[in-house]
Amino acid sequence: MTAPAQISLTRTQNPAVKPADASLSFGKVLTDHMFIMNYTEGKGWHDPRVVPYAPLSMDPATSVLHYGQAVFDGLKAYRGADGAIRLFRARRHAERLNKSCRALCIPELDPELVRQSFEAIVAADHDWVPHAPGTSLYIRPTVIATDVMLGVHPAHSYIYFVICSPVGAYYKEGVKPVRILATDNHVRAVQGGLGEAKTAANYAASLSAQQEAERAGYTQVLWLDGVERKWIDEVGTMNIMMQIGDEVITPPLAGTILDGVTRNSILTLLRDWGVNVSERRVSIDEVMQAGRDGTLKEMWGTGTAAVVSPVGQLGYKGEVISIGNGQTGALTQKLYDAIVGIQYGRAEDKHGWMSEVKLPVEA
Ligand SMILES: *Cc1c(COP(=O)(O)O)cnc(C)c1O
Repeated sequence: MTAPAQISLTRTQNPAVKPADASLSFGKVLTDHMFIMNYTEGKGWHDPRVVPYAPLSMDPATSVLHYGQAVFDGLKAYRGADGAIRLFRARRHAERLNKSCRALCIPELDPELVRQSFEAIVAADHDWVPHAPGTSLYIRPTVIATDVMLGVHPAHSYIYFVICSPVGAYYKEGVKPVRILATDNHVRAVQGGLGEAKTAANYAASLSAQQEAERAGYTQVLWLDGVERKWIDEVGTMNIMMQIGDEVITPPLAGTILDGVTRNSILTLLRDWGVNVSERRVSIDEVMQAGRDGTLKEMWGTGTAAVVSPVGQLGYKGEVISIGNGQTGALTQKLYDAIVGIQYGRAEDKHGWMSEVKLPVEA
């Protein structure tokens, strides 16, 4: 691994018309530039550059298209009340991308260069960071295997690229609870598998369960463990937390779930506040029983897109329990407000989570 290299910049000659902030949804509009860097065996990672956004041209035999050797991450840039643009926990996202790389035999990147790649692309496309409350610029770093050949083995060549998309406020009308369905027909990940990695394969593996949940009138799947189909893992593509009595519980990082940056941030805040927090196994039966006897106070998912996603209803084996009368709980709301306050520069950043993006001096 070498010291961070100079990142070159080639500006687009054809900047796109930016959509109005009010029209933004998630991931449909991409910005004018992308970051890209290549890996070849012997040479390592090289040629980091910001270039005009453009399609990738690929041979149909490119290995990622067949065997899914692909990892990604997701973070956001926020325009603060003071106009400054800041990234949330960029270094931690860079390190997690590397952890995902290791799980899929992809050569590691220099986390400092990855962090710089986020800054470089956001600096190039800073005009694309929307202004309206709750909006942000979503940053999607991705690594794919690019060997052209059909044998199954770790590739010898890769590209790392970063694309960005301006996204609308996740909650346009306030934080809104969802209905989730615990499934024992499908599992997302098993011990020894890819559950700890942010990889395309996990998302492919989640689709049929998600479709089944939607057909039954639910928003998301609550994943149970792959062995006993009893222990709660995650919800949809978020980490899960709940308050039973005065204890806040979240499943431990024991091999099948993703080490969410939002999960870690929320655990940090809860501990700062002196809340009784446990990272421990929690079974679906314990949660259903707590729902019946009234000790299940709140339940919420955590992730970059939503920050928190309160659970209003939980279905399992034909029974449906309502949590907090289907309303957003006080602790869930307090966590949301605290994290969002830090992200938009309104609240003190005690843990040094935000980093300001230096903007280019315009001619
Ligand atoms: C991305 C992701 C999360 C949330 O992680 P954050 O870093 O908080 O965005 C949780 N679970 C899965 C499976 C994910 O892919």
